[in-house]
Amino acid sequence: MSAYHPLTEAEAIEYARRLPDLFHAESELVSREIGDGNLNLVFHISEPSTGRSIILKQALPYAKVVGESWPLTLDRARIESEALMIQESLCPDLVPHVHVYEPDLALTVMQDLSDHVIMRRGLIEGNRYPLFAGHIGRFLAHTLFYTSDLGLNQQEKKERVKRFINPELCKITEDLIFDDPYTDSPNNNVPPAIRDAVGAVWGDGELHLEVAILRQKFLTSAQALLHGDLHTGSIFITQESTKVIDPEFAYYGPMGFDIGAVFANLLLNFAAQEGWSADEASRRDFRAYLTGTIRDTWNNFEREFRRLWDAHGVDRMSRTAGYQDYYMRTLLQDTFGFTGAKMVRRVHGLAQVADINSLTDEAAKERAQRIALSIGTTLIKFNRQASSIEQLIEIADKAV
Ligand code: ADP
Ligand code: MG
Ligand code: MG
Ligand code: MG
Repeated sequence: MSAYHPLTEAEAIEYARRLPDLFHAESELVSREIGDGNLNLVFHISEPSTGRSIILKQALPYAKVVGESWPLTLDRARIESEALMIQESLCPDLVPHVHVYEPDLALTVMQDLSDHVIMRRGLIEGNRYPLFAGHIGRFLAHTLFYTSDLGLNQQEKKERVKRFINPELCKITEDLIFDDPYTDSPNNNVPPAIRDAVGAVWGDGELHLEVAILRQKFLTSAQALLHGDLHTGSIFITQESTKVIDPEFAYYGPMGFDIGAVFANLLLNFAAQEGWSADEASRRDFRAYLTGTIRDTWNNFEREFRRLWDAHGVDRMSRTAGYQDYYMRTLLQDTFGFTGAKMVRRVHGLAQVADINSLTDEAAKERAQRIALSIGTTLIKFNRQASSIEQLIEIADKAV
């Protein structure tokens, strides 16, 4: 079974049975493939006699997008498992434990989180997660600080950069987030009802300049080891617990890209409340919860990041008077820009979000799409002037 091939459910059981200290040698095991099958197989293996279970995630050598397959490196399974292990060393409670990584099979064996729900689903159902802002603020502060030149010796950091060159997955981001949505590309899925607003995006030179600058940062700024795909579909959650999964897009990039991914997906849900909330009062209330979560996340992140910097900064020059404030202001501005870019691509780009697309009331869906596009483009255009997280919340509130 060692040469690479996509595992069958029977082979996944056979593999799991041989893992040390997990299952009893003779007991019955049950396997279910629970992934969406576009990029990866995800097997849930359980032992009914003990209730023990495990997840096997296996990369497929191709991606299925727009009905076609294109080859996609299996090395992303290594990237994902190594990123998870680094994240676990920094915030052990906020990622699944990795038991084994099997390079020949592009296979990661990890903790089963089936007692959590995917946050996108939870928000669509109207649930609130009071501990999330604290958890994700700490996740961002620790993973970004300790993998950057602020918290890691520069030579060690460069070794890390080498291990996390991720050209094929970065190319997906470069095209689908920073290029296609701004032109009439065949990769877009333009909702016919908002063709006018999308046409305005394609013709907006001021917007394109800001996107080109953000794209340049994504291409060239090796600031910290990013998760790279930190949307609410990559977050498992309960009232008590938050677990970040699926870092196969991990690479050394600009910190604001990860923070912006979280904010963008909260704001896509904010826009989608056009259809999910029963009435105006509950809509206003849930939106205030979402923007409050953004505020708390940023404030928790900033407080913890500055604390780590003061207590554990490794670079003498980074203690230069005024430098920390300059750095945090630039980071906030990047966050505004990447939040906007992550929103726009989800409105009329290739891959969209269930928050908006599963709305059945077509008028509400159209309003949600227009709100998301308006917030996204405004944040992109404003990004280099941003000075406070409150401005991001004002921009969102003004769009509804
Ligand atoms: P992909 O990269 O293909 O998006 P994900 O890592 O996001 O793969 O996993 C796809 C789905 O598989 C998740 O949405 C979740 O339903 C399930 N899954 C993934 N990891 C786990 C886990 N550790 N525990 C339970 N379910 C998981
Ligand atoms: Mg998927
Ligand atoms: Mg995923
Ligand atoms: Mg993934």
